[in-house]
Amino acid sequence: MTPFRLIDARSAAHAMTLLAEHGPAARLIAAGGDLLDLLKEGVAGALQPAPAVLINLGTADMADVAWSDAKLRLGAMATLADLAAHGDVRAAAPMLVEAIGRIASPQLRNVTTLGGNLLQRPRCLFFRHPLIDCFKKGGRGCPAAAAGDPRLQPVLVTAGPCCAVHPSDLAPVLVALDAVMEITGPSGLRAIPMDELYAGAERNPRAEAVIAADAVVTAIQIATDVFSGQAFEKFTVRGANDFASASVAVAVAVTDGVVRDCRIVLGGAALRPVRSREAETVVIGRKAAQIVTADIANAALPGAWASDAAGRIEVLRTLIARTLARAIAA
Ligand SMILES: Cc1cc2nc3c(=O)[nH]c(=O)nc-3n(C[C@H](O)[C@H](O)[C@H](O)COP(=O)(O)OP(=O)(O)OC[C@H]3O[C@@H](n4cnc5c(N)ncnc54)[C@H](O)[C@@H]3O)c2cc1C
Repeated sequence: MTPFRLIDARSAAHAMTLLAEHGPAARLIAAGGDLLDLLKEGVAGALQPAPAVLINLGTADMADVAWSDAKLRLGAMATLADLAAHGDVRAAAPMLVEAIGRIASPQLRNVTTLGGNLLQRPRCLFFRHPLIDCFKKGGRGCPAAAAGDPRLQPVLVTAGPCCAVHPSDLAPVLVALDAVMEITGPSGLRAIPMDELYAGAERNPRAEAVIAADAVVTAIQIATDVFSGQAFEKFTVRGANDFASASVAVAVAVTDGVVRDCRIVLGGAALRPVRSREAETVVIGRKAAQIVTADIANAALPGAWASDAAGRIEVLRTLIARTLARAIAA
């Protein structure tokens, strides 16, 4: 591993000052759950140079969970375990807690963070191989696409030079909850809807999220009075400690027995969480008691689907039916 200097940041503002001072040689580090792996494995390229300086956010006092203007504000440095144990998070965002319970291992959940989870890099075998170049490392083309193995392709076909699925389980949940990411950059505080965070991920050779290298994610804000029912389901090949082959997050607002709002978001299916607006449209305005979730699941799959992914499409349909039924019942 290339040696680096570790500098403790005292705050988000101090982290930004340090980023400006050290320029492209510097990177932010949360718990290092993903970043240290990449550095140790030598995953680098023209656009992913090994950093000479790591700026430690663990000392930056960014882990608070607090109410702000009727929204629950989750500090970017809150650990997954602390979020899952927090009473307000459990009450306001039960599916976030559900999703955290399916992530990695207790040891990793104890140290890794909300911000780091959302900005972790793809688990694509080729991207992670130190000797293989690819678009996401500043090279050309996508060896995963060239290999032609459907298991290495996303279920939802996206045009672009990369086809790695996004690994975060929290991303689809936060899109379903209509959450907003709070980012502090040189030009001040910015808020990005989670739905827009990974726009253009397949064409971005440096990262998946639309966040400048000199900005710091400070928090995620969740409006807590919108969705009365929530559910998350994840399908993995291994029983534990595995990334999603498919996941579904559903949030519904039901009043007087009628579904007023609904967000159905697919994870593990593409380079970013994908909303199934087709299914949402069918559900919104219907009486909750009359919804046949299996029918919705059949109408749910958006866009162009890999022709050889029938098995995984069936898994997604099953997850959609199950999460929708659970969210409505809740
Ligand atoms: C074996 C294993 C299994 C896993 N399984 C799952 C799983 O099933 N589902 C899942 O969702 N995740 C999974 N993960 C991911 C894990 O839960 C962590 O989310 C991930 O490792 C990132 O951890 P971290 O918080 O230490 O971030 P780091 O590794 O420190 O940082 C990750 C990236 O985010 C950037 N970053 C971090 N914080 C900020 C910030 N505040 N502002 C700007 N940039 C920032 C860093 O610069 C870096 O580029 C797994 C990880 C491992 C190693």
